[in-house]
Amino acid sequence: MASENQKLHVFLFPFLAQGHMLPMVDLARLFTTRGVQTTIVTTPMNLPIISRTIGQPKTISHDDDQDSSDNNIIKTLTIKFPSLESGLPEGCENADSLPSRSLLPNFFKAVQMLQEPLEQLLLQHQPDCLIVNMFFTWATDSAAKFGIPTIVFQGCNSFALCAQEYVGLHKPYKNVSSDSEPFVIPNLPGPEIKMTRTEIPEFIMNDDDKYGKMRKAMSEAELKSFGVIVNSFYEMEGVYADHYKKVLGRKAWSIGPVSLSNRDVKEKANRGREASIDEQDCLKWLDSKTPNSVIYVCFGSMGKFSKSQLKELAMGLEASGQNFIWVVRGSNPEEEKEWLPEGFEERMEGKGLIIRGWAPQVLILDHEAVGGFVTHCGWNSTLEGISGGVAMVTWPSSADQFYNEKFVTEVLRTGVGVGVKKWGMTEGDDVRKETIEKAIRRIMEEDGAEEMRNRAKRFGEMAKEAVKEGGSSYLDLNALIQELRSNRH
Ligand code: UDP
Repeated sequence: MASENQKLHVFLFPFLAQGHMLPMVDLARLFTTRGVQTTIVTTPMNLPIISRTIGQPKTISHDDDQDSSDNNIIKTLTIKFPSLESGLPEGCENADSLPSRSLLPNFFKAVQMLQEPLEQLLLQHQPDCLIVNMFFTWATDSAAKFGIPTIVFQGCNSFALCAQEYVGLHKPYKNVSSDSEPFVIPNLPGPEIKMTRTEIPEFIMNDDDKYGKMRKAMSEAELKSFGVIVNSFYEMEGVYADHYKKVLGRKAWSIGPVSLSNRDVKEKANRGREASIDEQDCLKWLDSKTPNSVIYVCFGSMGKFSKSQLKELAMGLEASGQNFIWVVRGSNPEEEKEWLPEGFEERMEGKGLIIRGWAPQVLILDHEAVGGFVTHCGWNSTLEGISGGVAMVTWPSSADQFYNEKFVTEVLRTGVGVGVKKWGMTEGDDVRKETIEKAIRRIMEEDGAEEMRNRAKRFGEMAKEAVKEGGSSYLDLNALIQELRSNRH
């Protein structure tokens, strides 16, 4: 039995993609600041990303693990990633480094093979709790072998958790006669939310599909677990958080936004990969702009567009007349000649900044010059936008992004959609430059833009209050830590 004074020790095992690793590292930091010992388990190629994000050159790795004198730092342990065994190129240990999305099944196969090495670490270190992303459906049973409770860290909000559950349970998409005919998500509290079949992945509608089976396994693992951590805050979506717990019977804690654990410039700028722009240059550029005059455009860690779509986006941005920061991923000068309108950067000098590669997103969204965000609605980005108090143009494509779009545009009413309707991992709807321009103008300058922004600012303030000492997320994390402490006696 652990003594009263012995520190609670939590293992965190994030899924190997930026959108899962970054909030999990933020979560580790939150636990650490509450006196909990944390250890993040990852693979060798992902270790540098985690070390940067923690901002701790002295991350303790497996080899020097016996050094446990400094309990206030986040520790890491690595396990080998089975690239060759799963048919992946050497070094591809993160979903955002896959050369093609067609390799995703291999990637998932590799991830399933991490079960045995993780179990070895659990046996060796006997933590008080294992926190995992929902994709590790086997982890709850693995940890249970050693009497260790598992908590699932949900990458989405309570609204999406409830909505997805009801879509899966009641299959409302079966009651419509075409892909474009809207159906209502049944039983959901709050405003009536409609979706179309095109906004839901095939595998959800096809129970026999292997991803459909995985979705089911995720639900089952969640029910078997000690509970669920939701990266969200009560003031924003209390009605859904309550519904998830009281009606859907889940044990859950809303402890976010976790990205707000990055407090100073360095912490915000070091999150994830090395930024492709110096943070001071970025801040200087933003400082030269008036409040709420810049729109930030970024589609997450994996979003990639066709050349024709990039061209429309460039033209739409220019036509909108707004200052902008645009993050373009995976481009090179040769390819750019094919889509970047001639003379674009010269014309946009001082008005628009292209970041090629990785942007210090949290730093940018927190700056007062930024008033709008064109986003793919990944939940981290969406919540970072909410925390930054910005209005959004929503442009979802896959995962839970269509639910997040509804949440922003119809529940919070702090954004407008760009009009895409097609769920797809590789391709989405084409959006014309006129549509992009119009959506940007709507959130930045047209009638109603100010009201929308004021509402967004209020949510931003609520988010900051929630994580402060005594705030709802702060207290929910306390409650979780308390339960974990009681559980080990
Ligand atoms: N991100 C970043 N810089 C970039 C792109 C993404 O810092 O240039 C971060 C972003 O702040 C967020 C995460 O990467 O925390 C992306 O997660 P999200 O859920 O928004 O989307 P995903 O990448 O999983 O589709």
